[in-house]
Amino acid sequence: MVKICGRPQAVFCILVVICWLFFWGVAPVRSQSPATGPASAETVSIAVQNNFPPFSFLVRGKVAGFTIDYLNLLSAKTKIEFTFVPGTWEENLTRFRNGEVDAITEISHTPEREAFTRFTSPYYLIPTVVYIRENSFSYNGVETLKGKDVGIETGIFYKDYLQAYPDIRIMEIDDTGELMKKLSFGEIDAAVTNINIGNYMIKQHVLENIRLAGKIDIPAIESEDLRIGVQKNRPQVHALLQEAMNSIPYTDYMRLQDRWIGAMPRDLQETLMPGDRDLINSHTNQYGGFRLSFHKHWYPVDFMDDHNAHAGIAAQIFDMAARTHGLRLVEQVSGSLEEAVDAVFKKESDILPAIVPSDRFNTQLIFTRPYLSLPLVIATRSDEFFVGDLKGLSEKHIGLVDRGELVDRFTETYPDLVFETVSSASDGLKHVQNKKLFAFVDTIPSIAYAVKNNNYYNIKVSGKLEETLPISAAVRSGNQALAAVLDKILQNISVEDKEKVVDRWISISLEENVDYTLVWQISIGLGLILVAAVVWLKKVQSFNRRISSAYALLEEKNLELEQLSITDSLTGLYNRHKLDMHLVQEKQRADRYNRPFSLVIMDIDHFKSVNDRFGHQTGDEVLRQMGSLIKKSIRSSDIPGRWGGEEFLIICPETDRQGAKTLAEVIRKNIQDASFLSGTPITISGGVAEYELKEDSETLVKRADDILYKAKHSGRNRILG
Ligand code: GH3
Ligand code: MG
Ligand code: MG
Repeated sequence: MVKICGRPQAVFCILVVICWLFFWGVAPVRSQSPATGPASAETVSIAVQNNFPPFSFLVRGKVAGFTIDYLNLLSAKTKIEFTFVPGTWEENLTRFRNGEVDAITEISHTPEREAFTRFTSPYYLIPTVVYIRENSFSYNGVETLKGKDVGIETGIFYKDYLQAYPDIRIMEIDDTGELMKKLSFGEIDAAVTNINIGNYMIKQHVLENIRLAGKIDIPAIESEDLRIGVQKNRPQVHALLQEAMNSIPYTDYMRLQDRWIGAMPRDLQETLMPGDRDLINSHTNQYGGFRLSFHKHWYPVDFMDDHNAHAGIAAQIFDMAARTHGLRLVEQVSGSLEEAVDAVFKKESDILPAIVPSDRFNTQLIFTRPYLSLPLVIATRSDEFFVGDLKGLSEKHIGLVDRGELVDRFTETYPDLVFETVSSASDGLKHVQNKKLFAFVDTIPSIAYAVKNNNYYNIKVSGKLEETLPISAAVRSGNQALAAVLDKILQNISVEDKEKVVDRWISISLEENVDYTLVWQISIGLGLILVAAVVWLKKVQSFNRRISSAYALLEEKNLELEQLSITDSLTGLYNRHKLDMHLVQEKQRADRYNRPFSLVIMDIDHFKSVNDRFGHQTGDEVLRQMGSLIKKSIRSSDIPGRWGGEEFLIICPETDRQGAKTLAEVIRKNIQDASFLSGTPITISGGVAEYELKEDSETLVKRADDILYKAKHSGRNRILG
């Protein structure tokens, strides 16, 4: 890890820094920047909208979105560094016209703007559409807006076109959220805006009575062209940006599209319509719910857990979908992909929750659009050289699990490689470990999960593919209606929620892994990338760019993994590893300064019965609520963590036994009084112990645990100590 917390790490850090300096110092990779740009980095202030999701909007006080990521791509390709100046469209345009900023984003071309703007080509085209209220009037083109109050965003480029129709009463509204709310509340009859932001706002403000009526039928304004505008006196900046825009690879662009827009509806409004509800209800009446045919062993995407229940990423996404839309899901396990397909085809089951869409099953299934796109990475033995991607390799044997037509697709893309099918990620990694395969390719969660569960000691992630693994749901071929409803439901889950689920499965794979194998392996991979970079730099200059982007990605993953490695993903409290580190620190402090500290260990009473009665997912939700209750009940100096399944440990620095008992009592009471998702009261028992000089931390924990045991046996729902 790039974290200085121990000697090996420190040595590693120094190595990384040296490599880094060398790497950049000897031959800057960015020397291939297009056009005749200035030699030194150029700073360009650029106005970006702060209320234009999913393109640019504020996320926790910072601008984020498609446009921002796109600008970052451009920045990496040029020597331009952007300073973002966020504001509303009106503010931005004024700033730009007054020359207060060098450039502006999300500007559409109009002839009059040409007087003061150098336009790049569009980097995105968004359909302009008309929204109306449910059952208000029927929209059949712009003529039918006559006599209506029609809202648009202030200063939007198509204002003049609409004003050409004197019978349409135009109202300008500053903010798209407000625009859509005014429509929902009946203050205007229709709203004209772009489909991405319109649908985003409907979802954001839960405006259920709004309907997408159709496209605007004025050719000049049927889509909104998002461009970058540059000041007239900065021709070089314009040329540099335009050239960089032309050279952005399609896959990079699609990745951004997937990230910010992919999950957004493209054509129609994606909320469930009354007809969809009817379909859900009649199916539920007939079959008792939607029968899911899930895989037994596709870890951690779709599998059967120790309680024979549906688990994994797909299970959690379906669970979310079911909760949001009141679906009943009936779980049916299938061993293999073929069995799952067969069950759906024979009408024994309705939905395959996770499958890589492929023509192979076209006669049996129809697929939804992919609702997930998982990054594919290359795992090799730790002693292998850094790989980067598959392109430079030849005649190597690479393992793949044949999901969908992955093997066919890869054989076509990489004809110099030999692909071999393995039955699972753990099987693939085993063959890599014993040298039967050079590398194994699978998704990050699958590889992380397999490494953790098999304790593979000499496997590293040594590269990333451009391809991702798309995951769709599928239903029986012919059942278009169900496919369409399911598609809407799955696309409605936000990208952030899906990412959270995936991240949790990566962290579950890592957090209990005491030696942090994967974290280390990625770090080592990172070190190797840099060393490799230095060596190869001399031979192949053009290779640099690929290495630097691999570095950036791995570094980003490392930072994520570092964060994940100290946090318990379910409760958001510290995990056991972090608690252990704090225990050592507190002990050292107590010994050195002769200061007290205490421990509280708590265990939920009869938690098994919560799981048994309400299911594991509710159990998990209770644990999550418990985490936030504990956080709320303690002081900022206390250190709360999840010690094990349903056990919590709180380290209380500068606190004696009595003080810790009082604190534990507050927590116990707050939990007793809280209402939990399970609907039943939940109580905890706790044991408190104060540190005794020079005792080791295991003994201290053991003393607290023994007291907890006594609390359990004297009736539960109490703190002893
Ligand atoms: P007691 O009052 O004696 O503590 O009774 P208990 O039922 O809570 O018993 P015990 O502490 O031995 O059992 C803990 C149970 O917690 C067992 C396991 O099924 C459940 N559990 C552990 N970790 C998790 C988890 O992450 N999620 C869920 N849902 N359940 C968990
Ligand atoms: Mg327990
Ligand atoms: Mg318990």
